[in-house]
Amino acid sequence: HPTKRQVTQTMRKKFPSSIYQLLVSIGDQAAKLSMAPYLIGGMVRDLLLDKDNKDMDIVVEGNGIQLALHLQATYGGSVRQHEEFKTATWKHPSGFLIDLTSARTEYYDFPAALPKVEMSTIKEDLFRRDFSINAMAISLNYESFGELLDYFHGYEDLISGKIRVLYNLSFVEDPTRILRSLRFESRFDFRMDTQTEKLAHQSANNILSVSKQRLANELCRLFYEGNASHGVNRLYELELHTYLVTNPIKHEIAANRIRELEDYHRDLHQKGLAISRSVWIGYMAALTYGDSKDIRELEDYCLSKEDQTVLNKIEELIHHLNQDLVNAPIATFHEHFSTYSLESLLGFLAFIHQDAKKSFIDYLIKRERLQRKITGNDLKELGLTPSPLFKELLYKAEVFQLQSSTITKREILEKLTGQY
Ligand code: ATP
Repeated sequence: HPTKRQVTQTMRKKFPSSIYQLLVSIGDQAAKLSMAPYLIGGMVRDLLLDKDNKDMDIVVEGNGIQLALHLQATYGGSVRQHEEFKTATWKHPSGFLIDLTSARTEYYDFPAALPKVEMSTIKEDLFRRDFSINAMAISLNYESFGELLDYFHGYEDLISGKIRVLYNLSFVEDPTRILRSLRFESRFDFRMDTQTEKLAHQSANNILSVSKQRLANELCRLFYEGNASHGVNRLYELELHTYLVTNPIKHEIAANRIRELEDYHRDLHQKGLAISRSVWIGYMAALTYGDSKDIRELEDYCLSKEDQTVLNKIEELIHHLNQDLVNAPIATFHEHFSTYSLESLLGFLAFIHQDAKKSFIDYLIKRERLQRKITGNDLKELGLTPSPLFKELLYKAEVFQLQSSTITKREILEKLTGQY
């Protein structure tokens, strides 16, 4: 039997009243179809942790698609069905998205295969989940509304900060869960319990049976959303690193590189610079020696065209930039890097001489904040006709601004007239 706990008051207090009312309505409408709905997963976990979460996942003992269509018929909005997985997304008239899934059990023909799906009860549905903290449900049924279903001591684990798998073969069946566990450790400052950690370590080589794309999805979230330093230290401790890249750099070097990259990444983000997810592939590059072979190998991890571009540019920078940047003036930085994106340059950071890093970052900040004082029109007003020279002069104007933040438009134009 699960531990009985009533969380109606917590739901009332912490959910916006529109969300609370929506959950009550879903329970009432499901009753009309003799179905039993439950709120599950991240939203339950985060409610108990007092954190926001807008991913409303509902598991129904019954047919999730049918319930979604019934809710649409009653309250409006629209429904997207995924027949194959017996799931539907109901878009409430307010725009809020609700995922409705038929309770199911999954079994695996062989480890790391995609699961086979069968309809089942909420308990079995929860049992196929990754960790105890993610395997709790809240009943939305009229007679038991607000009852926490916690078959695997998830509540205790939330309180004591533990990531725990539900059964010993969990990581073998789905090795991406090892990476997910590191992400939850990072995000909540939790730790795997001793047994889970042992299983993760023992199952590390199973990572090899997972597609690079699935691994990339988890690694990207680990590096982009979380505390990358913690993630990388744990990758090494659990000896996952050797299964992720062929030729990993030593733990200590990787730890230093990632800490530095993460610090600068955070700093630039806090300064308001927009850094896209694709920066994550730079974190991967920092785990390698940076040889062409090392970098090319990361191609299989690229999740988007932009990831691929960033990776290509990192390789280009590593292999074509022989110039010493130590004590180089800002104009030299601009000469080398003006055409590269912020994400590519952050990915290149690990491979720059230690003594040049500070100037490199100063350059990045100045460049990203640069508000160009000179335009093509200003050049026309000088009596010039548009030509390839324009590009060159505009570039020089940028350099003057990078060299002096106080330089005026007139001063730039004066300097430029001496240049043609
Ligand atoms: P987040 O706040 O990052 O979205 P989440 O817990 O909602 O966290 P999702 O990746 O959206 O994470 O997954 C939703 C739920 O599905 C999880 O709470 C978990 O129960 C389950 N889940 C996701 N991936 C797996 C997996 N690989 N194995 C088992 N269960 C999983």
